[in-house]
Amino acid sequence: MKNRQEYLRLQNISKSFGSVLANDDVSLSFCRGEIHAILGENGSGKSTLMNILSGIYTPDSGNISIDGVLHSILSPREALALGIGMIHQHFKLVDSFTATENIIAGRSGSLFLDSGKDRKIIKDLCLQYGFSIEPDKKVQDMSISERQMVEILKALYRGADVLILDEPTAVLTPQEIESLFAILENMRKLGCLIILISHKLQEVLSYSNRVTVLRKGRYIATVETERTNASELAELMIGHVIDLDIPWVETKAEQKTCLVEVDHISVLGPHHKNLLDDVSFSIFSHEILGIAGIAGSGQKELCEVLSGMRRVDFGTVILKEGHRFGTDIGFVPEDRLGMGLAGGLNITDNILLRSYRLTPGPFVDRRNGRKKAHEIVDRYSISTPGIDQVVKRLSGGNIQKVLLGREIDRNPIFLITAYPVRGLDVGSSQFIYGKLNEEKQKGVAVLFVGEDLDVLLAFCDRIAVLFEGRLMGIFDTGAITKEAVGMLMMGCQPCSRP
Ligand code: ADP
Ligand code: MG
Repeated sequence: MKNRQEYLRLQNISKSFGSVLANDDVSLSFCRGEIHAILGENGSGKSTLMNILSGIYTPDSGNISIDGVLHSILSPREALALGIGMIHQHFKLVDSFTATENIIAGRSGSLFLDSGKDRKIIKDLCLQYGFSIEPDKKVQDMSISERQMVEILKALYRGADVLILDEPTAVLTPQEIESLFAILENMRKLGCLIILISHKLQEVLSYSNRVTVLRKGRYIATVETERTNASELAELMIGHVIDLDIPWVETKAEQKTCLVEVDHISVLGPHHKNLLDDVSFSIFSHEILGIAGIAGSGQKELCEVLSGMRRVDFGTVILKEGHRFGTDIGFVPEDRLGMGLAGGLNITDNILLRSYRLTPGPFVDRRNGRKKAHEIVDRYSISTPGIDQVVKRLSGGNIQKVLLGREIDRNPIFLITAYPVRGLDVGSSQFIYGKLNEEKQKGVAVLFVGEDLDVLLAFCDRIAVLFEGRLMGIFDTGAITKEAVGMLMMGCQPCSRP
């Protein structure tokens, strides 16, 4: 590392959006031949800074130099001309085009294949960097990982030797993550600069050479990956020391009783595809059942069916011991300010909202609602000017605490949570894990739909894997490996049971 030469420099970059200072006087530099991670919590300014480098935003002040020469980058096209390409969180491919057509589209206005020549260039790029793509497959038939590969090839085809990836692994299985980084490592070895935006500590530690940490729009530090560790990085990210262990609490097998029975349920979707396809399993008291799967595998539909918000086309969901759907189930949906809370209402009204639905009628007990709101704000340490604050003005972590607080306050026997820590800082995430564990110890059956397999395996008692609406299996988390879960997430049975 010490021998590496500075290649690209951002100097005193500031950028605000209205009253939000997204980047505050940030300076840092990158070298060729490194994977340089930009690490920071949600909202710390990572995407904004990299959007400036890739010509999507212009900075309010500051400058960019490449090889010692100042450049103003006014558009993505100008960035590409300087060799800078960015892979966004949402891909920008044409669904009805093939891989090859997408890769060459937009190049000098021509859509038509100069078949021989273009195919040769793409084939050579694939060989050089280790891609395996099917050139004539249409994007609409591709997995998310294949689409991402096409995006990367497209940038390379246009001459990028600086590749910025914005949270590229959020949508991938562990195996797909391995293949992605194998390719990025090849690019690095051939002298490219890879900039990896991430908020995942383990990923940054496993795959980067250097890490720059941003916090609240400011530059905090750049460290060599091999000389740092998870707790140091977490401290740089959030500004104070934090316990990173995900707490698992033991509950006794003899305490567990079946509370919910899911019996051969199916939900039909468009084009004769089942959103849920003949799914059966049981959920017990005193347990946290994790649900794993790549995005869109039926998690959303499952939560909606279990919460009673959606009908099944076949099968039944049975709540045991005379419990009722309306009152005995808590639901923290993925879509917090849509299905969960009403963003435009204040904390008190959001708490009352649940009881309006339960006891329809003209009388609303506002006094009791305000009392509850105060209790929840206290108990969950929600930082807000008061209970009359409009919910959408709260930060993500505090919004989630209002939602979880309201649902837990109703003493459910079954608590459904979808991605409850998504986008939250480490401190708020730990708080939420603690609350869910408390519920489990009280005897509640907790469903935890998650995306981070390390978290699912550490935190849950059992894990169920969904693939294209089908249940691939349920396992004790102590009896299955991350790799095996990854295989099931792609629809394959692992070759040998662990
Ligand atoms: P990160 O990528 O680290 O999560 P971002 O760069 O996306 O952070 O956001 C930094 C801050 O700037 C956040 O407070 C965000 O809400 C705000 N922000 C980002 N883009 C815009 C935009 N186009 N308009 C208004 N505010 C924005
Ligand atoms: Mg971002």
